[in-house]
Amino acid sequence: MTSLWLDARGPDKDSAVATSPDEFTPGNSYDSVVVGAGITGLVTALMLARTGSNVLVLEARHIGAVNTGNTTAKLSLLQGTSLSALRNQYPVDVVRAYVDANRAGQKWLLEYFEGRGVPFQYRDAYTFATTPAGADRLRAEAFVARAAGLNVKSTRETGLPFDVDDALRLAKQAQFNPMDVLDALSEDVRAAGGSIVEGVRVMNVRNGDPLTVVTRKGEVTARNVVLATGTPILNRGLYFAKLRPNRSYAAALRLPDGMSPPPGMYLSAEPPTRSLRDYPVPDGGSLLLVGGFGHAGGRAPSMQAHVDEMLAWAERYYPGAEVTHTWSAQDYQATNLMPFFGRYPRGRGKILFGTGYNKWGMTNGVAAALDVVSDITGSGQLPWARTIHRRTTGPRGAASAISFNLETQRQNFGDKAALKEKPPITEETSPAEGTGVTGLFHGKPAAVCTVDGVVCRVSAECAHLGGILHWNDAEKSWDCPLHGSRYSAAGKLLEGPATHNLFKLQ
Ligand SMILES: Cc1cc2nc3c(=O)[nH]c(=O)nc-3n(C[C@H](O)[C@H](O)[C@H](O)COP(=O)(O)OP(=O)(O)OC[C@H]3O[C@@H](n4cnc5c(N)ncnc54)[C@H](O)[C@@H]3O)c2cc1C
Repeated sequence: MTSLWLDARGPDKDSAVATSPDEFTPGNSYDSVVVGAGITGLVTALMLARTGSNVLVLEARHIGAVNTGNTTAKLSLLQGTSLSALRNQYPVDVVRAYVDANRAGQKWLLEYFEGRGVPFQYRDAYTFATTPAGADRLRAEAFVARAAGLNVKSTRETGLPFDVDDALRLAKQAQFNPMDVLDALSEDVRAAGGSIVEGVRVMNVRNGDPLTVVTRKGEVTARNVVLATGTPILNRGLYFAKLRPNRSYAAALRLPDGMSPPPGMYLSAEPPTRSLRDYPVPDGGSLLLVGGFGHAGGRAPSMQAHVDEMLAWAERYYPGAEVTHTWSAQDYQATNLMPFFGRYPRGRGKILFGTGYNKWGMTNGVAAALDVVSDITGSGQLPWARTIHRRTTGPRGAASAISFNLETQRQNFGDKAALKEKPPITEETSPAEGTGVTGLFHGKPAAVCTVDGVVCRVSAECAHLGGILHWNDAEKSWDCPLHGSRYSAAGKLLEGPATHNLFKLQ
């Protein structure tokens, strides 16, 4: 599946990276190497390049490949029921600091859009409830949001094509096409003297002065390194054990004549998550984007069933709409709900990172960049960052981390036991087109699938920590249910904390 945003870039973005204007030169030295060309990485790189730093961005795949090119790109401080969830774990000053961080991220991007002429639209943001339980959650959210400084209003007038039990509105938030901003950022990084190299995967960062950045194509050195890779690729710090990968879905719909998208940006308060916004197409007209219907990464019996459920829901309210694109992506939720950013453990203050935005990375990713850059340039810690860095994880956050890791272990044991009960994989195993199976092949965990008539047999063990992979029937990929690493049908690493491809089994 390819997102509306990435589809405009041509059919195979991963193969097209050879056209990237900058070259990777092993042995070179930089002030900063930024790993990952999503919103976090490119905003960080631009801010650093503008201070006169010699910056290199290394991107394993292509710009926007993972989350940012597959987001729904609402730039909003009203974020579902996130604030009341945070308030259940933290004092109000920490929740306020979270809002201030997001406000700073939103402000930076809006100013950038205005200054750079990147198209965007102001929209009112709504969180809506369609059940009494959801309405209760909204009351709690309204209380915390107001205490944290947001002027949210309760309303039942939403412009949605269905009744709601209640809704919160925050006026004048924004939305955009995420590839428009990544394009502008990339151009500006290069104009400020930085380089962006696509198709180079970072495998490790070795401590030292300078740091050594190890890639599949050689090594470079840097005075500091920013990991803007979504989930961090270095296992030190054990962030993979503190980040839940949550996968969700999106679709773009062309509505029949006489129907138009609702006027705001929307998110439901209760599951299944339902998200809506419009997209004014540059050459005229408007598409409706719907999304949500998510699950823990790699852990749904059928990912396609989630796509089908989303489309059936959209068809109910927008009958006759033509589906132009469907896509999916996963973002990471910190077990203690607060995004992680700043100094990476055991990096001597020279390795920095940002992750755990819980599907609000358009604001949080920029906030992370602001913090990381203020640390690198020594320009003084931002007040909201100081409060967030000094927070302590309370009992609920600790319990959530324990339960996530117990679930993960249970999943791992269950998957390994189940593998032995499955029919063995042989040289003749050839699943139906678009399907994949796992089993033992000469005693080793194997994953076999058929995509576009090609049968591929690879190790079924994730290259990160050996979790047994599950077939993703929507994306035609192998997904790890432990920490979210994903691979193509042929075993090429797509995303996640892993740094290696899968072994091919001959
Ligand atoms: C369906 C969906 C809808 C969303 N909607 C919204 C929304 O409306 N508003 C909002 O604020 N947020 C939203 N989010 C969240 C938001 O998209 C993310 O939080 C944000 O894009 C994360 O940006 P990032 O730069 O940290 O990561 P990414 O965009 O994932 O970038 C990380 C980059 O690092 C690269 N990389 C990884 N490993 C390596 C390596 N070893 N070497 C080199 N490069 C590497 C990857 O290829 C990737 O390009 C949504 C998320 C999803 C899943």
